[in-house]
Amino acid sequence: MVDIEDAGRALKRYFGYESFRPGQGDLVKAILGGQDCLGVMPTGAGKSICYQIPATLLDGLTIVISPLVSLMKDQVDGLEDAGIQASFVNSTQDMDEQALALAQAAQGRSKILYVAPERLDAPRFRDFAQRVRISLLAVDEAHCVSQWGQDFRPSYLGIGDFIRSLPQRPTVAAFTATATEKVRRDIVYMLGLNDPYVAVTGFDRPNLFFDVIKLETKHKNSWVARYARKHQDESGIVYCATRKETEALADDLTKVGISAVSYHAGMDAQDRERAQRDFVNDKVQVVVATNAFGMGIDKSNVRYVIHHNMPESIEAYYQEAGRAGRDGEPARCSLLWNESDIVTRRRLLDMDSGNDRLTGDQAEAVRAEHRRLLNVMIGYCRTTGCLHQYMLRYFGEEMAQAAAGPSPAAADKGESAQVGRSGAGSEEGEEGSGQDGCRNCSNCLSTFETIDVSDVARAISRCVHDVNQGFGSGKITQILRGSRSQDLLRRGLDRCPSYGALSSVPEARIRDVLNQMASDGYLNITEGRLPMVHFGPKAAQTVAPDFHYEIKRTERRGVAVAVDDQDTGRV
Ligand code: ADP
Repeated sequence: MVDIEDAGRALKRYFGYESFRPGQGDLVKAILGGQDCLGVMPTGAGKSICYQIPATLLDGLTIVISPLVSLMKDQVDGLEDAGIQASFVNSTQDMDEQALALAQAAQGRSKILYVAPERLDAPRFRDFAQRVRISLLAVDEAHCVSQWGQDFRPSYLGIGDFIRSLPQRPTVAAFTATATEKVRRDIVYMLGLNDPYVAVTGFDRPNLFFDVIKLETKHKNSWVARYARKHQDESGIVYCATRKETEALADDLTKVGISAVSYHAGMDAQDRERAQRDFVNDKVQVVVATNAFGMGIDKSNVRYVIHHNMPESIEAYYQEAGRAGRDGEPARCSLLWNESDIVTRRRLLDMDSGNDRLTGDQAEAVRAEHRRLLNVMIGYCRTTGCLHQYMLRYFGEEMAQAAAGPSPAAADKGESAQVGRSGAGSEEGEEGSGQDGCRNCSNCLSTFETIDVSDVARAISRCVHDVNQGFGSGKITQILRGSRSQDLLRRGLDRCPSYGALSSVPEARIRDVLNQMASDGYLNITEGRLPMVHFGPKAAQTVAPDFHYEIKRTERRGVAVAVDDQDTGRV
């Protein structure tokens, strides 16, 4: 029987590495011991080694199911170079090549065989799988099996059946970089994993400085320009929500002498390739991109990633922000956001007609899950706790040395409320004097002042009740402010008991509190064709007499931001 020491020797022999990274060793050990497992690790953390090393040591064949057909040849070439016999069967090959690959694997001349999930339905492959001893089945990008995730692939649904059809059940190891609880549970269920060993590792990126800045939309471009100018010698990525925004911002940056290009899926392939090449070769300093940019781009010296808008989920954010500082040197990830980003995100989500394979109820359930993910993202923007910790807790991994801070779950409970965050910072390198924590995020270098907004929150609840949960956040705010808008008067909303109840409270504050109540579960806001504010699952608590609701204002000290969001200069 092979053990972890044999695995360590194989790691050195084939790949030249001295030791396993955290998490890898335990996953390899579980697989060698015949236990199913689920490895949740970010891209680049080293998932492949976790099944490739056992594959070299186990008697039979290891089948790797991967949706990335275009990468299979490179993966197999890499393994062959390392001295591991491997092959693949996919649609890029003709029938003879496919037959040859299967024959080699059947004769034991390949230890690892890569296939796409669609292959599992092919009669020839099914027949092959009945005849061959399969020791390990590794499922890469396993989150594709879940309808809760954004990358659901119907072909992944057949994997469970395929495993059940085998004469001898192999050990099954699933890997993903996606971490939501629901998706994980789905993976275990859909693949039929047996009491799996679950490892979540490698999410901490201590060299990244995380920074959240609330900034009005009209000031965002000038903020980015000033940052890029101040960091002329550094490579940076700026993520925007739309193609139009990437082009406008790249133009603005170019006009003030910064070497910048835009990148989005609407550009033709040649221009995209050129933009990517120039950025990777340091011919261009800044790439202003939509989320189409990044997959498979290997550039280790990206010194900053700026998000011009709030992303749809922590996963999306962490993946994009994580492209900074791959070389392990300090890098900065700044997120610029404001309340209108939230409205835009909610609108996109509520308008999304979803996947045609889902029934109306299923589609609504998926939308509700996406709303939850968005709320966790909003919680990140508002939390006053350590930003590193917030994300690690979300991914299910605690940071060893950091002080306790609010977790994403706590954000759900309204424990990490914050509004009125000012992005004003001081010069780089200054020492901060805020609360304890990682000392490498803007929150740990800030102090916060708490504002009691119970009255505003109560008035909002009352107003939502007065209008029978029948209007959107815009109307609720107008009613509370006592607006004389024609539409409001025509609908008779000036007769509503809460009309004018918050006439002395600024509109921005009402919106802040409203959005905060939504991310904390007191309200549920939809922004689709019929915008609507409903009571959320925790609404009952808001009518309790002792209901006390606080939001926090930040006073930043010593945050290493060299630019100031109060600046109104336009680029
Ligand atoms: P993932 O599949 O999680 O995206 P990969 O398996 O492609 O990541 O690994 C990312 C990189 O890390 C590869 O270059 C790989 O060779 C390297 N790597 C993996 N494990 C180790 C290790 N134990 N020691 C050193 N480098 C490693």
